[in-house]
Parts: sequence; structure tokens; C-alpha cells
Amino acid sequence: MDLASHPGTLTCAECGTEIEDAGYLPATEREGTYHPLVDAAVCDTCGFNDIGMTGCAPDLSDVVDAGPDDTLLYVRVTDDDIEVVSAKE
Ligand SMILES: [Zn+2]
Repeated sequence: MDLASHPGTLTCAECGTEIEDAGYLPATEREGTYHPLVDAAVCDTCGFNDIGMTGCAPDLSDVVDAGPDDTLLYVRVTDDDIEVVSAKE
């Protein structure tokens, strides 16, 4: 499944820096696509170390007040796109 929209940049909600490699992006699943909740994106480092705690990937509820159709995506940020690597229910 792909993103419904492709934000040009993602900023980490935790440390405020632009996500340049990979990060966690919550999204609402609707009509077969992911609608990204860009304001709640977190970078790989924050997600793994600060939010996930003890070196674990974060859960959806750690990064956003989740709705029933929401899921947490692990994304890779490339020069001109954001690619969904995996989704965590
Ligand atoms: Zn961060």
C-alpha cells in the first residue's frame, strides 16, 4: 500500500529536525491508501531511543493519539519521495 500524499519533507515531532533518512510516520488507512499524519512523524533516532524506550521501535500509541484505522509506518526518505518500508498495526 502506498501513501495518499507525498510530503516533500518530514520534520521530527520530538527533536524538530528534518528527517533525512528514515523515520516513523503514523497514517490513517482509508480507501486502500495511507493518509500520513505528518505532524506526528518522528525520526529514526528519536523513535527508537526516546519514544520506543530501551532500544525498541515505537508503538503507534507512543507517537499519536491513534484512531481505529491508524497504523504506524516505517518510512525511508529519499531525495524526492517517501517510501513505505513496513507498517505496524
Ligand atoms: Zn527526532
